[in-house]
Amino acid sequence: MAEQEHGSLKDKQEKKFATKLIHFGAEIDEHTGASSVPIYQASTFHHHDIFNPPDYDYSRSGNPTRQALEDYITLLEGGVRGFAFASGMAAISTSFLLLSSGDHVIVTEDVYGGTYRLLTTVLNRLGIESTFVDMTDFEAVKAALKSNTKAVFMETPSNPTLKITDIGEIAEWAKSLDLITMLDNTFMTPYHQRPIELGVDIVLHSATKFLGGHSDVLAGLAVVANEDLGRRLKQLQNGLGTVLSAQESWLLIRGMKTLQARMEHSESSARKLADWLDKRSDVVQVYYPGLPNHPRREIHEKQSRGYGAVVSFDVGDGDRAKAVLSRVKLPLVAVSLGAVESILSYPAMMSHAAMPREVRLQRGITDGLVRYSVGLEDVDDLIADLEQALDGKEAI
Ligand SMILES: *Cc1c(COP(=O)(O)O)cnc(C)c1O
Repeated sequence: MAEQEHGSLKDKQEKKFATKLIHFGAEIDEHTGASSVPIYQASTFHHHDIFNPPDYDYSRSGNPTRQALEDYITLLEGGVRGFAFASGMAAISTSFLLLSSGDHVIVTEDVYGGTYRLLTTVLNRLGIESTFVDMTDFEAVKAALKSNTKAVFMETPSNPTLKITDIGEIAEWAKSLDLITMLDNTFMTPYHQRPIELGVDIVLHSATKFLGGHSDVLAGLAVVANEDLGRRLKQLQNGLGTVLSAQESWLLIRGMKTLQARMEHSESSARKLADWLDKRSDVVQVYYPGLPNHPRREIHEKQSRGYGAVVSFDVGDGDRAKAVLSRVKLPLVAVSLGAVESILSYPAMMSHAAMPREVRLQRGITDGLVRYSVGLEDVDDLIADLEQALDGKEAI
């Protein structure tokens, strides 16, 4: 049985990405032929034969709906084992607990705010030390190495200024030193970027964003590159109980089937929006890896198949940013990204509000910076809406 499943997974691994999104192994229910995975809304499973325990015995340890999702993301990322968690932070925190007291981790300095908080207010109390470095500077990464360094945590493009880390360069260096490499792939998704193919050990996702894609599920995913990490992460997921429920697993599978269609549409709109913004003299700076002058664009192009759907731009100052946020009529003004609807966020007062102002400014997160996650609306409507918000003809 296992052999047969393994064989069919291999077949699927050879298909193109768009086909894998639809034919991932659990697209047809084997018992009834139903066109979607059943939601196994059960906490426990009957032991028909007490001497032969069933495959699933308790939903924290394993649930068939969650398993279908875990196999799905494993196939998409090209790893060996996947895990679904209650949120992106549950996936990230559980993975960090592969480390022990006394261990040190090198982390990209513009890492997601929640990851920064976890490292500096929780993991530090458990004796897990971290150093934040600018990962666009390989010398700085190497200089951060200590005798107790055990892991490197990357995020590229980073948030919100979309800085590019050279994944292969850092993964190769880390491997030569036996360090575990982790990468938060939320912004790119496996459609654009598959870090395991570049030598990364653990890929992490806030599936709340592009993978779920509809602003209606909170979830996290992790995929590992080898069996040993798989066994250790399974033990942590089960031991900590940070699992995703059957209902949410099903909703996430449903959202993921349209990942490529959504990403293609949003990305082509994001490119158009970024070009349009870049031509405006009243926009101080536009950050988008697809723009010709984006720093390290050639490295991004080497390791990724696309530029994504997030565009950040600086409108000059805080008052103007607030005016734009109150004038836009189409995007949701909110925290989060990666949904069918466009979402406009204000890092200075939302995701990065807890960061000291000087540190925030140093990282380019100015008071005038806003972040646009482009959804599936018609891009001409989005541009017209942003134009009226920037021109500010209407009263607030
Ligand atoms: C949102 C986000 C997270 C955290 O995920 P949650 O699902 O909100 O817990 C982690 N990393 C990145 C890059 C994110 O955007």
